[in-house]
Amino acid sequence: MTAPILRSLPDLRTMTAPWLRAGARIGVVPTMGALHDGHLSLVAAAKRDCDHVIVTIFVNPKQFNNPEDLANYPRTEDDDARKLARFEVDALWVPDCDQMYPGGFATNVSVSDLTDVMDGAHRPGHFDGVATVVTKLFTQTRATDAYFGEKDFQQLLVVRRLAADLDLGVTVHGCPTIRDIDGLALSSRNLLLSDRARTIAPRLHEEMEEIAKGLAHGEALAPLRERAVDRLLTAGFTKVDYLDLRSQSDLRSVTDTAQPARLFAAAYLAGVRLIDNIAV
Ligand code: AMP
Repeated sequence: MTAPILRSLPDLRTMTAPWLRAGARIGVVPTMGALHDGHLSLVAAAKRDCDHVIVTIFVNPKQFNNPEDLANYPRTEDDDARKLARFEVDALWVPDCDQMYPGGFATNVSVSDLTDVMDGAHRPGHFDGVATVVTKLFTQTRATDAYFGEKDFQQLLVVRRLAADLDLGVTVHGCPTIRDIDGLALSSRNLLLSDRARTIAPRLHEEMEEIAKGLAHGEALAPLRERAVDRLLTAGFTKVDYLDLRSQSDLRSVTDTAQPARLFAAAYLAGVRLIDNIAV
């Protein structure tokens, strides 16, 4: 059965009120829709842990720094509801922009330090938009648990930070990245790739694995990185925003893997910005 689609806050509150009285665990899975198996893995994790699960679908204009990206973002609500049917979640929370940001809305949630680098540096305002909407989604749904993908690792750390700093009482769970068979990390934006670009896209993950292998053999980061960027540009990527080795706990730049580290990448292919990260 497809779950009820709720669009107004009073309806959502009516649904959650008895859950709160019962002290239930309420899991929330925030998404922007165009659901794929990556999103569905978060839903499965939430279903495993929680008494009730709410999936949210909101294409949040505040986190898009590029109007064209917002206009092109895939919207597939009916398909999304169908894909969720087998999970028997309690509700889809699908607010519109007026519900989320009514006239006069003037509050901004901003997380510092973690957002100075990578997507924070390349997408001005992006993480303020994420932090603001996630704070609202947590308080709207009265979540006790929230599920985020490691695919967006920087976002996961930002959300953990804000949940702790603001005493939101939400445990933030990180779930592993789900990939296509050729290694490409699943992403709603993959729908925007042409057939040709789709054949090139897995190179990003391949080059990251090459760097990880080199590091494991004791090679220096800088030449490995330079070679990978060259090969990506030769393969057809038009720009590499970053290809960074960073500490997994605080995103400080590192040059070796003496401490738990991840390799992070963002690159443009045929006008589509792909991001990925792997543990090394
Ligand atoms: P989005 O709809 O792209 O905003 O993503 C919603 C949630 O799904 C975020 O927590 C993402 O990190 C997560 N997610 C997106 N792609 C994947 C993936 N390939 N594997 C696991 N989680 C993902």
